[in-house]
Parts: sequence; structure tokens; C-alpha cells
Amino acid sequence: MARKTGRTSTVKITTKTKNKVKPTPIPDYLKPLKNPYKTKLIISSKAELKIRIAMEYAKWNEVMWFGELKRNKKGEFILKDVLFPPQENEGAFVTTKDDKFPKWFHNHVVKKGKSKTMRLHGHTHPYFTTNPSAIDIAHVATYLQETKTFFIQLIMSNSFEPTCILYTMDGKQDLKIEMEQSKKVKKVLEKVMHKEESWIKYGHQQTRGLLYPDEDDVYDEYSYYWNRSVGVKPSTPNHKNRYTKSNTI
Ligand SMILES: [Zn+2]
Repeated sequence: MARKTGRTSTVKITTKTKNKVKPTPIPDYLKPLKNPYKTKLIISSKAELKIRIAMEYAKWNEVMWFGELKRNKKGEFILKDVLFPPQENEGAFVTTKDDKFPKWFHNHVVKKGKSKTMRLHGHTHPYFTTNPSAIDIAHVATYLQETKTFFIQLIMSNSFEPTCILYTMDGKQDLKIEMEQSKKVKKVLEKVMHKEESWIKYGHQQTRGLLYPDEDDVYDEYSYYWNRSVGVKPSTPNHKNRYTKSNTI
């Protein structure tokens, strides 16, 4: 709001600008596909293992890979294998190593006749949301221009929260993913294991109860370290009410 000065302003302020900046139109490949494909991405055991190992090795750093795709009779995409190019890795950024990448790509992709099947680019957002960043979206444009058909971008967090998007020249769609090996192993575990729900939700509280059933002093100490480790200021202990014997196992 303008402040009244008591003077009459003689200066006219015009807001007309001849060269108004028009908003950039959204390119077709970033619009949702009108008729999405009924398909998903199945990650083979080999690819899953390599991705898991890479995540573990990279830890807090992002890591990237190229993925070799094929399609099964149902038209589902299978991620057969992943290859790791020479790369520079940081906590919230990953890029190919400029000087080494072209030679690597020639030797591992072009020479082996994999140019047409390398239609997936994957990378991690180790401990943050897996939505594509502006840079990630810019990369899609580059890849699509090269392939001219379709391209899959897969972003995984270290706890395996995936974002998987299929981009075509006509539009994009989210893809569900299925991990071959995880699916098999989880099926077995579901049969043989019985997980106590409270341990999943309140594991740390239960641990306190189990480890230190009676000694209030130890509760305080444990509570202090627990709070400190998760970045919470320790609250005033109220253990006499909270940690009664009925709370312990
Ligand atoms: Zn990213």
C-alpha cells in the first residue's frame, strides 16, 4: 500500500510493458497422457540387487544408473540390468563425469548394441522426497530428444519409496513398480513371520521397557539419548506415570 505524503505526485507511474513475458507453454511430454498405458515396471532380481548395493555404498550421496529395458508379452517393462556410468556424487546432486562418460557410453552401450534398450535413467534421492527436481525434468527433455520415443525415469529413496514416470512424446504417466526378488522373499516372510505391530510403531518405547523395566534413572538417560539422537529437546521426565510396570513386558 502507498503511503500518503501530502504532496501531489506529478510523476506518472505506468505499468504498461510492451514486452510482456508470456508463460512458457508446458511441453507435451510433461502433460498427463490422455490414454495411459496399462503397464508397469518390473525390476529384475539382478537389477534390484545392484541398486540396493549401490544405495548402501553411496549412503548419503545420490547415485545414478542407466537401465536396460525389455518388454514381456503383456507389454510390461522389465528392467533387466542396470549400469553405473562414471559419475560425480553429492548429497542432493549427481551427474555424469564429463571427461569419462562419452568413452564409457561408447564402450558399454553403443559397442554392445544396447543403445535402443537403454531407455531408463535412475537415481536416488537418499533421504528426501522422490519427486523429480527441476534438473531431473530438464534431463528428461534431453533424453527424449535423443530417443524420440519413450523414456522412463526412476527415482528411489534409500527406504525404497519410488517415483517412476514413463515419458513419451505425447505425454507422461506414473508407473507402478514391482521388485521381482522382494516380492518373492516378502511372500515367504509373510507366511513364516508374525510381526508384533506395537514393535513396528513404538519400537523405541518397548525397548526402554524391555531393557530397563524398573530403574527410573536409566529411563531418563535412555530417553535423553533417544531424544538427542532424533533432534528433540528432552522433555521433563514424567517416567513415574509413563513407565509403570504394566508398560513393560
Ligand atoms: Zn533428482
